Amino acid sequence: MIDVIIIGAGPIGLACAIEAKKKGLKYMIFDKGVLVNSLYNYPLNMTFFSTSDKLEIGGVPFISHNSKPTRAEALEYYRRVTSHWKLKLNLYESVENIKKDKVQFKVKTNNATYKSDNIVFATGFYDRPFLIGVPGEDLSKVKHYYTEPHPYFGMDIVVVGSANSAVDVALETYRKGAKSVTMIIREKEIGTNVKYWARPDIVNRIKEGSIKAYFNAEITLIEKDFIHFKDNKKTYTIANDFVLAMTGYEPNFEMLESVGVRFQKDDYKTPIYNDGTMESNSKGVYLAGVVCGGYKTNKWFIENSRIHASIIMNSVALQQK
Ligand SMILES: Cc1cc2nc3c(=O)[nH]c(=O)nc-3n(C[C@H](O)[C@H](O)[C@H](O)COP(=O)(O)OP(=O)(O)OC[C@H]3O[C@@H](n4cnc5c(N)ncnc54)[C@H](O)[C@@H]3O)c2cc1C
Repeated sequence: MIDVIIIGAGPIGLACAIEAKKKGLKYMIFDKGVLVNSLYNYPLNMTFFSTSDKLEIGGVPFISHNSKPTRAEALEYYRRVTSHWKLKLNLYESVENIKKDKVQFKVKTNNATYKSDNIVFATGFYDRPFLIGVPGEDLSKVKHYYTEPHPYFGMDIVVVGSANSAVDVALETYRKGAKSVTMIIREKEIGTNVKYWARPDIVNRIKEGSIKAYFNAEITLIEKDFIHFKDNKKTYTIANDFVLAMTGYEPNFEMLESVGVRFQKDDYKTPIYNDGTMESNSKGVYLAGVVCGGYKTNKWFIENSRIHASIIMNSVALQQK
């Protein structure tokens, strides 16, 4: 019998596995993708906003070349942490559903079914993009993840969204030789939360016409060579090679609901949990990391949620006595 199953081998899931190991608990940890799958899918040349010491887990020092580490350094670091702690991981094994009876959980993956006394959701949100919801969105030219500008050189690009990632993608593809960059934005302006150094840059590129932007606009149809959209004045059809849909991501609320987790009646669908134990309203179901914020996906990050791991495993260890 397993004491605790941890879903998600992101930084916080790994921190949970380390704490479980320290406490002598029998644990398993699953990820549907690679080790730290979300970080792996970040833009190739991203830099963290945290200094490396703030991303450390399991007492393993993280030294980076500059004060703010790169994606590559972070991948290397979390590989090193995993080896140092000799964590046993089930990678490429996706948890598909969980059944809860009175005393235990049956966790079904794409590979097998496991039984456990407790479950930790360290599932983040980055694996589930918000869809635009229009015909043609399933074409391979529509991307919900952006890694680097090279594939878009000489191409007609549409960027959907107006938050930080959309702004970064529009500026980078424009500067690295996209033939045209057009932003299609549902709101009336560029997001007011966009980084203070990037906002004037994008606003000025739009003003001078280097990047085209349509506000109060929405896409109606995506085709192989064209995209159709409308704003409050008229409808448009433009030539298009790639749609970079930077429309955000959302946690897997259905899986949380399926094991009895309930949500606050706030704007963010914040899951209900006790912050002294990180146990949700559903006995034996714990929440760790960024998933704790519901739709407020910027509330928790590595720096401020590493602490969840020890809080959870203290509680699990007490209950397993
Ligand atoms: C560009 C960018 C820069 C950032 N910079 C910083 C920074 O400087 N400092 C900082 O503290 N934070 C930063 N963050 C945020 C930080 O990366 C996240 O807060 C962090 O990844 C959250 O860790 P987590 O373990 O909670 O979730 P994640 O890292 O998202 O891990 C969740 C894991 O769960 C897996 N998973 C989901 N569902 C299932 C399932 N059903 N079965 C199996 N596995 C599943 C996923 O594949 C994933 O690997 C940044 C984020 C972005 C996008």
